[in-house]
Amino acid sequence: MQSEYDLVIVGAGIVGSALAYDLSSSVDGKRIALIDRSISSLNGSTGYAPGFVGQYNESEVLTQLAIESVKEYTKISGGFDVVGGLEVATSREGVDRLRARWESATKAGLAAELLGSDQAMNMAPELVKDDNQLALYFPGDGAANANRITAFYREGARERGVQLIEADVTDIRQANGRVNGVTTTAGSIKAASVVVATGIWAPQLCKFDFPIPVVPVAHPYMYGKPHEPKIRKAPWVRWPEHHVYARDHGTYYGLGSYEHQPIPEEAKETAKGQWPAQFDETLKQALQLVPEQTNLVPNEKFNGIFSMTPDNLPLVGSVPSVNGLYIAAAVWVTHAAGTAKFLKQLLTGQQVDEGTRKALDPTRFRGRDGESLQQEALDGYNNIYKTQQNV
Ligand SMILES: Cc1cc2nc3c(=O)[nH]c(=O)nc-3n(C[C@H](O)[C@H](O)[C@H](O)COP(=O)(O)OP(=O)(O)OC[C@H]3O[C@@H](n4cnc5c(N)ncnc54)[C@H](O)[C@@H]3O)c2cc1C
Repeated sequence: MQSEYDLVIVGAGIVGSALAYDLSSSVDGKRIALIDRSISSLNGSTGYAPGFVGQYNESEVLTQLAIESVKEYTKISGGFDVVGGLEVATSREGVDRLRARWESATKAGLAAELLGSDQAMNMAPELVKDDNQLALYFPGDGAANANRITAFYREGARERGVQLIEADVTDIRQANGRVNGVTTTAGSIKAASVVVATGIWAPQLCKFDFPIPVVPVAHPYMYGKPHEPKIRKAPWVRWPEHHVYARDHGTYYGLGSYEHQPIPEEAKETAKGQWPAQFDETLKQALQLVPEQTNLVPNEKFNGIFSMTPDNLPLVGSVPSVNGLYIAAAVWVTHAAGTAKFLKQLLTGQQVDEGTRKALDPTRFRGRDGESLQQEALDGYNNIYKTQQNV
């Protein structure tokens, strides 16, 4: 470990690792360090994400970041499975919503197709029941292998000279309105710029003159029993009216649900929390959406923790009161590589899209009180795929 770097990135989950990789490919001669308290295992949300990637979002900014991310993930061997995505409606309102989503997704330039009930069942017979009324199919969507992608970025960055350091960062050092390094359990490190990419732990290092409402929440996910692999993996399936999703992991199915009272979590050692007893009922209800003959029952289940924000958008950008300090928090796997590109542009003084900068501006909650922001973030949980503002 050197005592001085040009840039320190704190957090080597998918976001910090993608940024380190991107910067190492284009910034010659810069000394970059990527620091994480658990380099050897992925203890953050990235390590638990099932990797469901739906590119279309009601927020144009998020759609764009997702499109850019998928473009990058598909370049990585084993990084992304283009299995497609299927949104299924089981009610009249659901049908109307899918039609509207189809129209706007098409306008956004994404390939999208409305399918009748039988077509939807044929596409994923083990996941879609005959009670579906209409489905919206996204052929370009799929599943990211977040562990594989992160390992690829870390290794690529390391080969290009980025130093990976296993240490706990306890403080961001600053003086006279400028960042000047970090304090770590392995010693102090000087740095002209620092990026905080610590996921659910972001608020712990970010004590600014404006709130960082990154709220860790509990989320149930389960894996079914092993089955023989099919000739072709099924697309992921989402039931938007029921806030449930499922995917084919190849030799077993997985299923997650947002259909429960939001539960705030404290960010502890890993992004895996205790299993709240009520999650058993949540999964039981969700499993009723899957055809009975699939016999999908929990073989393994866990409470994975990720971040929510009051407007369901990440916080990405510079901290104006501390020159040289940047943050990238509450970023999904779906948007990570695109976000890293955006951040690289900011860090290297390139022109960025003004709409994106404004939408992701980490100072946008300035003046708001923490309690109401936390409540707004939790309120958005059951409507995870909808952003509050149309940006
Ligand atoms: C169950 C579950 C399901 C999900 N499903 C999906 C999905 O289907 N699609 C999708 O797009 N996203 C999904 N997500 C969300 C996604 O996983 C996260 O948003 C994303 O992985 C966050 O990446 P990150 O790099 O910002 O944070 P993380 O992966 O959490 O990485 C942060 C890193 O910072 C390190 N760190 C923290 N504090 C410090 C410190 N002080 N010093 C040193 N190191 C520190 C941690 O060790 C960690 O490695 C899911 C998440 C979970 C848990």
